[in-house]
Amino acid sequence: RIVLGIESSCDETGAGLVRDGRLLGHAVASSMDEHARFGGVVPEIAARAHVHALNPVVRGALDRAGLRLGDIGAVAVTTGPGLSGALQVGLAGAKGLAYALDVPLYGVHHLAGHVAADTLEHGPLPDPCVVLIVSGGHTSLLLVRDLARDPITHLGDTLDDAAGECFDKVARVFGLPYPGGPAVDRAARDGSADAVAFPRPLTGPGDDPYAFSFSGLKTAAARWAERHANGDGALPVADGAAALQEAIADVLTRKAVAACAAHGVNTLVVVGGVAANSRVRALAEERCRAAGITLRVPPLGLCTDNGAMIAAVGDLLVRAGAEPAPLDVSIDPSAPLEYAALHPTATV
Ligand code: ATP
Ligand code: MG
Ligand code: FE
Repeated sequence: RIVLGIESSCDETGAGLVRDGRLLGHAVASSMDEHARFGGVVPEIAARAHVHALNPVVRGALDRAGLRLGDIGAVAVTTGPGLSGALQVGLAGAKGLAYALDVPLYGVHHLAGHVAADTLEHGPLPDPCVVLIVSGGHTSLLLVRDLARDPITHLGDTLDDAAGECFDKVARVFGLPYPGGPAVDRAARDGSADAVAFPRPLTGPGDDPYAFSFSGLKTAAARWAERHANGDGALPVADGAAALQEAIADVLTRKAVAACAAHGVNTLVVVGGVAANSRVRALAEERCRAAGITLRVPPLGLCTDNGAMIAAVGDLLVRAGAEPAPLDVSIDPSAPLEYAALHPTATV
């Protein structure tokens, strides 16, 4: 079967087509520019943008794959977590297509999508593998077995902010453009990572080895910027960006490699928007090589939100013989990551 995947949990509208683990084509539209002047995603604007983008994006994915609507054999859609209005638009569209085409519908957990994105480039995930999810709203270390069948084990999560959130908020304080993560990455190229000694939260001997905390780092970066504002010199943004990026990459990769070693796992998969960060990729590569661990990171275009990753999960579910979702399946804006399939029922 050819699986159409639809993603609309935040500000990207994505559609992708996958068959037997192979990406046939995908398209993404973003309402990012409409949110820029507010400094963050405005839920109502995001939901309306999905209404406009959904059909063109599905059409775009079909065109790129050289396929027609009638070729679609199943529809997978993000049912959570995410912004409720945004999720509703994608789910309504997916239900309409599944009903009209008379094909099964699958609800997919957005973060399982981020994990599955890597399979489109590097093939099936080894069982088990350690996964570091680093995105705008989540930061977790996971032990993943069979993504389509088994429950996902959380080794550790962030106690406060996500890594992407830290990039985004500090970027604002540094006066960098929205969205912050890519802007910090770019600014850091001209800076020196050891110009500022930012903290490495939860890396002490008594700390939880797999838990993360980024709010203290965010505060430290804001204080550093304030001290400069009160002095006379201009803020050395490039140095601040390089040091912040180094601190985040250091903590993420140190804990991820330690988790692999402690669990006897020899594959680390780094996924989510922050996996697009150049220093996170480079340091993960360096530390995995030193530890004899195989590193897998999706190509840049599949790290941030897209429909191909949701189709990838749908394809795994189809091939695992998973039960499709009923047509009255609901959304769950705050669903914890337990299984890749997410089929909440309405509880009104
Ligand atoms: P979630 O997946 O947790 O629901 P999301 O879908 O909004 O959140 P993603 O699309 O996975 O998040 O990733 C967006 C995040 O990735 C943003 O915080 C963004 O700043 C960050 N990001 C993207 N590119 C980079 C980069 N090159 N360096 C650092 N951060 C980046
Ligand atoms: Mg986004
Ligand atoms: Fe995401």
